Amino acid sequence: MTRWRDLYCGEVRPDDVGRTVAVAGWVARRRDHGGLIFIDLRDHSGVVQLVVNPERAAEAAKIAHDIRSEFVLRARGEVVARTPEAVNPALATGAIEVQVDELEIVARSEPLPFQLDDDGVEEPLRLRYRYLDLRRDRMQRNVRLSATVISAIRSSMEEQGFIDVWTPTMTLGTPEGARDFLVPVRLQPGKFFALAQSPQLFKQVFMISGLDRYYQIATCWRDEDLRADRQFEFRQLDLELAFPTREDVLDVLERVVVASFEALGRTPPPRPFPRLAYADAMLRYGSDKPDLRFELEIQDATEPTRGSEFGVFANAECVRFLVAPTVFSRAQLQRLEEFAKEWGAKGLAYLVVDESGEVRSPIAKFLSERELEAFAAPHGSTVLFAADTPAKVERILGALRLQLGEELGLVDTTRDEFLWVLDFPLFELDEETGEWTFVHHPFTGPLEGHEDLIESDPGNALSNAYDLVWNGWELGSGSIRIHRQDVQARVFRAMGMTEDEAQTKFGWFLEALRMGTPPHGGFALGLDRFLALLAGESNIREVIAFPKTAGGSDPLTGAPTPIPDRVLAELGIALKPEAGTGR
Ligand code: ASP
Repeated sequence: MTRWRDLYCGEVRPDDVGRTVAVAGWVARRRDHGGLIFIDLRDHSGVVQLVVNPERAAEAAKIAHDIRSEFVLRARGEVVARTPEAVNPALATGAIEVQVDELEIVARSEPLPFQLDDDGVEEPLRLRYRYLDLRRDRMQRNVRLSATVISAIRSSMEEQGFIDVWTPTMTLGTPEGARDFLVPVRLQPGKFFALAQSPQLFKQVFMISGLDRYYQIATCWRDEDLRADRQFEFRQLDLELAFPTREDVLDVLERVVVASFEALGRTPPPRPFPRLAYADAMLRYGSDKPDLRFELEIQDATEPTRGSEFGVFANAECVRFLVAPTVFSRAQLQRLEEFAKEWGAKGLAYLVVDESGEVRSPIAKFLSERELEAFAAPHGSTVLFAADTPAKVERILGALRLQLGEELGLVDTTRDEFLWVLDFPLFELDEETGEWTFVHHPFTGPLEGHEDLIESDPGNALSNAYDLVWNGWELGSGSIRIHRQDVQARVFRAMGMTEDEAQTKFGWFLEALRMGTPPHGGFALGLDRFLALLAGESNIREVIAFPKTAGGSDPLTGAPTPIPDRVLAELGIALKPEAGTGR
């Protein structure tokens, strides 16, 4: 038999009228009406209506009687114009239909566990039958859009002189701050590989090897809680280059973003993307990944509230506020206070300035003219305060800002706001151990001129790290690295890591650093996040063909599963009773 498909379903056009065409696809719907059988045949390109008329094609009509939803058919016939009353203007193929001459059932289908055009199917069911879910328009679009973007990213990287080099996935524990997934080794019982949390050290080593512009679309594994923007395994555009300035690295990424937009026929964001220092981001937005699609900036009132008669202000290390452009009712304020408490606030002081300019607030009587002036809020607004340590104030007002943005409809969803956040701190205090630890990873270089703070004032040492943010999502991060062994040793020391520990964890890498390391820097762009945002999805699972559920399992294959004891024994592993028995 010949090919039997010369057109995708959605490709049949009104100017094909009079032509004989062959199409193949799935049965989206069948209807019997007036002695005719109407079949909507669908594939990823669209849908076309087949009409089987027993008078025209008796054999085809016999076959058509058997047809159910989601059968795979091949049909050959003539394209004809529909009668005017049958035209469906919502469909590209709505003015035509195919009068079938020959029909073949290529494959039958059991009744499906859900209707493909039902938008309300629960996620576990979708993932259990992901191959059917992927047949739906939305997933077809997302998967194909992803492929277009990945292709554009590769072209852009290669045009910019980067080469794709693979790095091992089974390796030594890597330093991205998450837990490792471990792989036991049958030939060496008791020993384990870790799955790479990222290619970080290998890509730095490439710079030492003279592979001066490396990239890879790398799969990474991190054992951490899953969220809308996090999976155990995920992809990143990983890159590294030798002798870069920070601007060089940012430029590479901006080109990639622009190329991706252009590949989808969308207007790219203007370059250069805005840049904001971490400290300013925290001060003005209470976040290191601010959503700039709405204004609503946090303002500082620490200085004007020194000596305030309102004790909460006077005694707080830091007082900041937001001016919401609305007059909140008492009930609304109570709800916002609850919200602020969830983020660690003790309460939520406020001033309501009504439409006539009158101030309503239980704290107004304590506030001086100077204070009220500092909070200058327009008529018809509400000032919301946080007074605490700077870190808490940032957290509370950052969360409140996003909440208000959404609640008050301030977010302009037609805008695309890209942003670089620069100059992150090099270290932060680990709340559990009380020791300094890295903010990005321990190979991040200090900002020029901040090297001496590594020992004298670690909390104020800034790093040469940068994050890319899109509409409030962190798309990825990178840094100019430490390329000198002595500086690396000082950073380890500042983090309380002994020489021995550093050797055990990264000895091979520290040795490499001593053998002619050019200055270098790089970045990793979270590909799944980027694709999700490009697809207009708020969950990365929608752009991953086979994602894990929020609980970390795969309903399609049933993984993860117990492993029989004899297999574990070969690996030198015995399970503790509370972990369940292998089977
Ligand atoms: N390795 C880092 C990460 O995966 C990115 C980088 O610094 O290049 O987040």
